Amino acid sequence: MIYLDNAATTALAPEVEETLRQAYHTYYGNPGSIHRKGKEAAEQLAEARANIAKTINAQPEEIIFTSGATESNNLAILGSMLKQATKELIISSIEHPSVKEPAQWLHKQGYSLTFLPVTPEGIITPEQLAKNANKNTQLISIIHGNHEIGTLQDIKELSKEKGNALLHIDATQSYTKIPINVKNLNVDLMTLSSHKIHGPKGIGALYIKAGTKLQPLMKGGGQEHAIRPGTENLPAIMGFATAATLGNKEGWQTTTEKLRDTIITTLLEEHDSKLNGHATQRICNNINLSFLGKQGDSIVLQLSNKNIMISTGATCTTAQQEPSYVLKALGLTTKQLQGSIRLSLSRYTTKEEVEQAITAIQEVLHHA
Ligand code: PMP
Repeated sequence: MIYLDNAATTALAPEVEETLRQAYHTYYGNPGSIHRKGKEAAEQLAEARANIAKTINAQPEEIIFTSGATESNNLAILGSMLKQATKELIISSIEHPSVKEPAQWLHKQGYSLTFLPVTPEGIITPEQLAKNANKNTQLISIIHGNHEIGTLQDIKELSKEKGNALLHIDATQSYTKIPINVKNLNVDLMTLSSHKIHGPKGIGALYIKAGTKLQPLMKGGGQEHAIRPGTENLPAIMGFATAATLGNKEGWQTTTEKLRDTIITTLLEEHDSKLNGHATQRICNNINLSFLGKQGDSIVLQLSNKNIMISTGATCTTAQQEPSYVLKALGLTTKQLQGSIRLSLSRYTTKEEVEQAITAIQEVLHHA
């Protein structure tokens, strides 16, 4: 089986599996308990938090564990807007639904919501942000690496236009793919998820810059500075930390980028093909192509029969059977939208797998 749908989710790294086994076996105590078993768990929790903080140049106390990127995004958007004085927020038009939906919910409650347009390559320009931000803007939310088209935003440049607003980035897809330094990027809030980086599912984090005030969405015990109460999911947190440390090691990203470019160059030789997203400013593992006159879902199913797993676009939106609003924001025609496929590689993807996948896709395209 060849698995090229790593933007949807990833297989557990063997090292993470080992961490989970140890955690469930040994560190089952509640980190809040004062006895030795609790202390042991609290130590592991602190170590995992510090290790994740280190990967993004943050302080451990700036990391809050959540159930995943959906919760982190909701906490960032709702938590910051409900705390602030004015009611204006800006998001890009290519955000994940877990940013878009809470923003639209706020809009229904009377908040002012602005969508930033993108260029045909999916870039959000500082000029557009400058044009739309004003002194009443409380929050700007921008996806760092897009889940469908892989486009990477220049957050450092965009942050220069944030004024007094808080800047939140959704780094779910970019984390471990490129180095992330929250201080250099000048962000206030940042979303991370474990299951996109070979960690366990159901665990994520929100980076909250020291001093940034959020309204908790849940009330309960005082865990996670009372911003996200509930007994910590320690095995998952430890697994996430192992995955983050492994993923952040440098080297694999360049290899993956070369494999990505081989796929793009070869498949662009196909009749009526088009690359979606930016040619170079894109995550090292993302490929999104349109084949005019073809049906993306038919290609995906035929490849699945050949034991090759890819996607038509974002898994979260395909369930709704609606055309991708991300691809629409790029200005794609309905025909181009219908014929789009996404391949997302991982650090385990080999040259042989890529070659086999290319051949299989060519076969499917020629017979579809
Ligand atoms: N943001 C982005 C960019 C994503 O790709 C995803 C997962 N598709 C999410 C948020 C939601 O992540 P999770 O599954 O961890 O809730």
